[in-house]
Amino acid sequence: MVKNTYIGRFAPSPTGPLHFGSLVAAVASFLEAKSREGLWLLRMEDLDQPREVPGAADSILKTLEVFGFKWDGAVMYQSQRQQAYAAALHHLQQDHFVYPCACTRKEIADSAIHGIDGLIYPGKCRDGLLSGQHARAWRIRAEATITFNDAIQGSMSQDLARDIGDFVLKRADGLFAYQLAVVVDDAEQGISHIVRGADLLDSTPRQIYLQQKLGFRQPQYAHIPVATNAQGEKLSKQTLALALNANEASKELWQALYFLGQHPPAALRDSPLSELWRWAYENWNLSYVAKTRSGQDIDEIQTGAKP
Ligand code: GLU
Repeated sequence: MVKNTYIGRFAPSPTGPLHFGSLVAAVASFLEAKSREGLWLLRMEDLDQPREVPGAADSILKTLEVFGFKWDGAVMYQSQRQQAYAAALHHLQQDHFVYPCACTRKEIADSAIHGIDGLIYPGKCRDGLLSGQHARAWRIRAEATITFNDAIQGSMSQDLARDIGDFVLKRADGLFAYQLAVVVDDAEQGISHIVRGADLLDSTPRQIYLQQKLGFRQPQYAHIPVATNAQGEKLSKQTLALALNANEASKELWQALYFLGQHPPAALRDSPLSELWRWAYENWNLSYVAKTRSGQDIDEIQTGAKP
């Protein structure tokens, strides 16, 4: 009998140090896995090496350790998984779900309309390349309406052709796309439940579509609200989010629990991390998380979370 039927994960991209937004995703995925006696795996999404910041992967692991996270098994690194992505693409090529695309960025920009996540590919290369053209990227035909039930956000539906268009699996620069990598890795790691930020809600139907085409099991999804700054922008490297402060780990963990609707007692605000974790293990409840795509901004949290 399989011991752990719940396998969750946290999958940071090493584009900079962890910030409050990533802490919230780590806390939610960790506590949900542990409260269901599951495993919590770690995957370093260092797929896009040009965007990677040297040393960030190690610093993320160190920060997670300082904050008291314990992950199961070895960390998976996407940079070591090229063969698996190539095999998945090959599988899709055999089944003719994907096609080579010779269009340049400019050609697409000139004739495409906007979808919910970038431009919708106008379909020029769908019926094959002309002689003399060569493949720049590989795209998958996106022809399905995907419906799924998110454990936090409720029932979601997306018409891939109308909202997204044929999307890229292998980019013109030779890199495999995030959408393909994440699906191949979630399957390889046996992930049964995905708890992550709602900024990825619109990517989920693409990932489910790929799971269907590759014959993978569909995990259950729970998308937590995204932490924003006072301007309403998602906390990220681009919006200059502050790195987590290891010297204030208790305070930041307390605030993450507060952001996640868990009502940690004010008395625990400055208590040792282990006490706060103990409280969190005993009291974690996913249904307290706000059912919105974005949550309170960081200023509100810092003010509101004051005892
Ligand atoms: N690597 C992604 C990020 O840091 C998360 C991917 C995922 O959870 O599917 O935003």
